[in-house]
Amino acid sequence: MCSQKLIRRELQAQRNNWMSGYGFSNIYEVFVRKICVGPGIEFDETNLTAEIESMFAETRLQSKICYVEKRGEIRVVGFAGMVNGSAIVSRLADRNDLVVSAPSFTPPSVYFFLEGDLTYYCVKELNDLFFRANNFIKDGNTSIVGRKRMKIAGLVLTKVTMNITGKNREKLLDHDGKIHFRTVTVRCYDDIKLEFCLNCLRFGHGVNSCSNKTKCAVCLNEHDDVCTPNGSMSTCCTVCPVHERGGHLTFSVNCPSYQRAVELNLKRYALDYDWVMVPNNIVYF
Ligand SMILES: [Zn+2]
Ligand SMILES: [Zn+2]
Ligand SMILES: [Zn+2]
Repeated sequence: MCSQKLIRRELQAQRNNWMSGYGFSNIYEVFVRKICVGPGIEFDETNLTAEIESMFAETRLQSKICYVEKRGEIRVVGFAGMVNGSAIVSRLADRNDLVVSAPSFTPPSVYFFLEGDLTYYCVKELNDLFFRANNFIKDGNTSIVGRKRMKIAGLVLTKVTMNITGKNREKLLDHDGKIHFRTVTVRCYDDIKLEFCLNCLRFGHGVNSCSNKTKCAVCLNEHDDVCTPNGSMSTCCTVCPVHERGGHLTFSVNCPSYQRAVELNLKRYALDYDWVMVPNNIVYF
């Protein structure tokens, strides 16, 4: 990219709340679950994390493990950098009490919200409208893949998800991350599968899979009864830990917690973006 374009993108980022995704390397993730292999055989998954780590001891891969995370009954093992995925899977699958899978990465996509119910349209007709209005290149891969009717504050909206190739995404960035449809222009967001929990106010999982205590958005303490704050109410970031809380608002692109969540998902989904179009409001997640 020429320097003029770099500067232009930098200014656009400031104007449109894009987050820098520059220089992140990839992570290869494997999902591991322990199963009961037969009657009389003791099933114990308490040491599964340690067992997984020991399976890579004294191999080249040992130093590439960057986390083993517990998500419900599943352990997610993340490997940093360039690794041989099938070698990892086959090593873990050597044990017959482990079920191993490597999630396939979805192609890059963006989403946006349009007023009204667009679920009645035929996809081809909608695609044609978007291609014409936005001057997209017909590459066979840019296409609407999801439509979800929703109601926000009494208003019927359709969340449209569109697979998008690099060249067509550049076109969106050129237009400040906005997409045209008929007479309206709306903001697009990169679909990087961000999750935010409204119970514990953390990134990385949804309310339904939360096992943390309820965090109060008013006083930022953990309690689930009526809040009786003493003194002034909090005006700082509700997501960050105490030592990082000051100087920015919740869901601002300057929030370190938000940045970490975005970085992790870019790595996880192998998305190579210089700038990421992220929402600054939970409503648009
Ligand atoms: Zn939670
Ligand atoms: Zn409270
Ligand atoms: Zn924050």
